Amino acid sequence: MSTQKHYTGLIERYRDRLPVNETTRIISLNEGNTPLIQLQNIPRLIGKSVDIYVKFEGLNPTGSFKDRGMTMAVTKAVEAGSQAIICASTGNTSAAAAAYAARAGIKAFVLIPDGKIALGKLAQTLMYGAEIIQINGNFDKGMALVKEVAEHAPVTIVNSINPFRIDGQKTAAFEIVDELGFAPDYHCLPVGNAGNITAYWKGYKEYSTDSATHKAVTAKRPIMCGYQAAGAAPFVAGHMIDEPETIATAIRIGHPQSWDFAWAAQKESGGWFDKFTDEQILAAHKMLSQYEGIFCEPASATSLAGALHDIGSGKIPEGSKIVCTLTGNGLKDPDTAISQCAAAHPVTIEASLDAVKRVILDCL
Ligand SMILES: *Cc1c(COP(=O)(O)O)cnc(C)c1O
Repeated sequence: MSTQKHYTGLIERYRDRLPVNETTRIISLNEGNTPLIQLQNIPRLIGKSVDIYVKFEGLNPTGSFKDRGMTMAVTKAVEAGSQAIICASTGNTSAAAAAYAARAGIKAFVLIPDGKIALGKLAQTLMYGAEIIQINGNFDKGMALVKEVAEHAPVTIVNSINPFRIDGQKTAAFEIVDELGFAPDYHCLPVGNAGNITAYWKGYKEYSTDSATHKAVTAKRPIMCGYQAAGAAPFVAGHMIDEPETIATAIRIGHPQSWDFAWAAQKESGGWFDKFTDEQILAAHKMLSQYEGIFCEPASATSLAGALHDIGSGKIPEGSKIVCTLTGNGLKDPDTAISQCAAAHPVTIEASLDAVKRVILDCL
């Protein structure tokens, strides 16, 4: 029999730093423990001596980092006796909420924007059996409605305004420090609602002290770089945006809920916000697939688009150790991926050895 401890999810792993006790029923799908992959070809391609690691959160059970927050939020909702959860979502929160509700045996209601949800996310949410409420309006409108309805119906909000979501998500920073043995110099993230940048910063701060003695174990924390899509960049504008627009639907948000926390992360870490066009985001998206074999969502690639830009300009100096979070799996949004590829409609040839051989020899 194996003596190795079975991996049971991030709540078990980081129990001493999360709000659970011995009697809490943990609702888990063995989330977390995602790979931190060092990029090998892209640094060489850009001719810079930097260590870039990607934290591939697309390998969580429902394919995004939202699972980290959802295991905590649903665990605490069930502990409090809640029979139903609700969220507004650009897709990934609804997929995660639906899955963890199914696991817990409670109901999930999800408000999604009309038409702007990636195909994979919709398929998941339908399969996990959530009640889908599609609204005539964008994410921000859905979020406002969810906050209102939770005051009038017995449902627990599991958007990232739920503090347990942030607590679950902060464990990604713990994993990075555990794996590298130190905090990176820079941490780059796509920013939408800004829950994740809030969570990472909280995680890095907490992990620099011992959980039992609260004594400092290290002074090192990363500089936080929050990157947005050009058409949905309230942190760059310095104010909320009413009609956010970007192909990266997961960050198509104009009224971020974690506004103050994200500004605190930027200021305390000495970091910055910046914005990138859909073209720059899609270029990084394709680069990761074609040069590293890592297929993430368009929104996720915003972290690398930003890092590459800031490495190129020297804002992030050579010799730096950089972590980019890849927030979701590329399979979530097959339509955007296919539309980027010229070979999506390959020419058809005769089914013969000769014809196939000719194609191969032509390519080499
Ligand atoms: C939710 C999400 C984001 C944005 O995270 P926030 O916490 O809202 O800033 C980015 N990428 C993907 C794939 C997401 O699902």
